[in-house]
Amino acid sequence: MEISRRSFLEGAIAAGGTVALGALAGCSPQAASSANATTAAVSTGNAATPSVEDIIIPHTASAKVTDFAGCTFTTDEPAPLDPPASWDKETDVVVAGTGGGLAGAARAAFLGHKVVALDAADTYGGTSKSACLYYTTTGTRCQLAAGLPDVTDKLQAALEKSYPTGEKYPKFIANCLQGIRDLVNWTEDLGMTWEPGWIDGQQKVAITVAPGGTQEGGNSYLMMKVTEDFYDKIFKQYGGEYLFKTPITGLVMDKGKVVGVQATPEGADPIYIKANKGVILATGGMCNNINMLKRYCPDGFETSMVSNAGTYDNGDGIRIGLGAGAQLDGYNIHGHFDGGIEGVGWNHLLYAADIQIARQPWLQMDTMGSMMTYSIAGYEDYGDMIRKMPESKVYSFFDANWEKYCANFVLPMCRNLTKPDMPNQDRWGGLLDNDYRNGVNDAIEQGRIKQGDTPEELAEQLGVDPTLVKNAFKKWNDMVASGDGTAYGYEADWLHPLDTPPYYGQALGVMMYSTRSGLSINENLQVVSESGAVIPGLYAAGMTSGRPGTSPLCGDVGYAATSAFLAANHIDKNA
Ligand SMILES: Cc1cc2nc3c(=O)[nH]c(=O)nc-3n(C[C@H](O)[C@H](O)[C@H](O)COP(=O)(O)OP(=O)(O)OC[C@H]3O[C@@H](n4cnc5c(N)ncnc54)[C@H](O)[C@@H]3O)c2cc1C
Repeated sequence: MEISRRSFLEGAIAAGGTVALGALAGCSPQAASSANATTAAVSTGNAATPSVEDIIIPHTASAKVTDFAGCTFTTDEPAPLDPPASWDKETDVVVAGTGGGLAGAARAAFLGHKVVALDAADTYGGTSKSACLYYTTTGTRCQLAAGLPDVTDKLQAALEKSYPTGEKYPKFIANCLQGIRDLVNWTEDLGMTWEPGWIDGQQKVAITVAPGGTQEGGNSYLMMKVTEDFYDKIFKQYGGEYLFKTPITGLVMDKGKVVGVQATPEGADPIYIKANKGVILATGGMCNNINMLKRYCPDGFETSMVSNAGTYDNGDGIRIGLGAGAQLDGYNIHGHFDGGIEGVGWNHLLYAADIQIARQPWLQMDTMGSMMTYSIAGYEDYGDMIRKMPESKVYSFFDANWEKYCANFVLPMCRNLTKPDMPNQDRWGGLLDNDYRNGVNDAIEQGRIKQGDTPEELAEQLGVDPTLVKNAFKKWNDMVASGDGTAYGYEADWLHPLDTPPYYGQALGVMMYSTRSGLSINENLQVVSESGAVIPGLYAAGMTSGRPGTSPLCGDVGYAATSAFLAANHIDKNA
């Protein structure tokens, strides 16, 4: 099977398409009861968890979500706090959030600044360590050494096309494209190894890099954990201090300038940390704050079946920044691709076997019985197509021979079925079953994957008109018999007849992996207020910052690290 991963990764770029506190107005930290209210709203955010029926929106993809466990619902935008009578800690830079933010924390520490890094979780890495793709960059040393061209101009042009007009965005894009190259080269100077994306066979990609040695055997799960581990090493080596289980719960401002933060260690009273040079908000996006999604990213909520960004991706930093007077940017923009299924909770792992199998090159049929064109060229494009289908879903069908057929499917990245012989499993830390077959069998047993002894019986289980499924099976089997699936995007060796009961089927939809609606920033990652002026002392990075481009600048995981790195550089030059 010859899949062009190069075209998968480069096609989208070339086409210019998609490549991802309690309201405390005037409250001071001395007002203990109010401060506690602030803390509660940020750290739990679940004062009143609505019922599933109240959350979902009928006739959208959200309608079939079974639960919203771990989600946050508050939309409060806490007003900044006045400086306390005495600070609990004093530092140069506070970085709130240690996913992509950790690159900024490490960089600031490396540049000689005293840094405190806060995280609500009990460890670093956030969603960033889960990412399965690459940093999107070009012209780095490892790419040039591999003979790959520097296509910065092409990237810049394609990205600009996906952003609104205005002087801010071209400068911002240019800074990020330079910044990610600098970040990769900087880490390389410090001992990290990088390699061009997808180096299997002859397919090297001019616009992506991966940590050295992470791509073997098509194992992409937690690929970017290697990068986070490296930032952690540098951060500690240069004297950085972590405070885990200590979410930021407020900004402290003095005469319009951010001068520190309030943070609240788990089970303890709030503490106040003075930040003499700057605060970087990098707490992620809002994939798991349902009411924020409905407010700022409604398309994402209404057309996705799941998100797997993790429960800490709950909008804290964005709400805190909005409370300090920031503008919102990137309204309704989010990262997504096919990778949702019906009948599961909002938080469902992308690598779960029931999602992986639904994404294989089986017959896919829309809700009106038409056969879909299967595509792996540009995840977001395919996800976009499904989002726009009726009810934002298609059906995926296979038969009793799925295991035999799957043995020959080798699709890129998260579509690549998880197998016991995959290398580099140590980085999974036991989080993933290494045999997709277990999960598929469980899902069949639990009825999440529907089955029937005839196409019609299966259709009934899925709630679909039996004639549609019967006709689609016939059309598929005729295509398989012809040996030519190109009209529908199928490689020759993907073609297997649907002829052995039981037949299986699932509704496949969209998975939202990031939100890009967040705090408005200028080209230096400084947060911009509703008046259009910069809020001194305040930076936003990663998914906390808003980006209205539909193309994921640097890749979302690359952008998260790069933006924090750039913020650290700006603090260094301007503090
Ligand atoms: C399975 C999966 C695969 C993905 N694959 C890709 C991919 O291939 N390519 C790509 O570009 N993108 C991918 N993404 C998306 C990408 O990884 C994320 O969008 C990006 O890494 C987010 O970075 P971030 O720094 O904004 O947030 P995070 O990395 O999530 O970091 C935010 C941190 O802030 C912490 N936090 C939250 N609230 C607070 C608070 N109040 N105070 C302090 N800390 C707080 C969190 O615990 C977390 O550690 C994927 C995502 C997932 C889930």
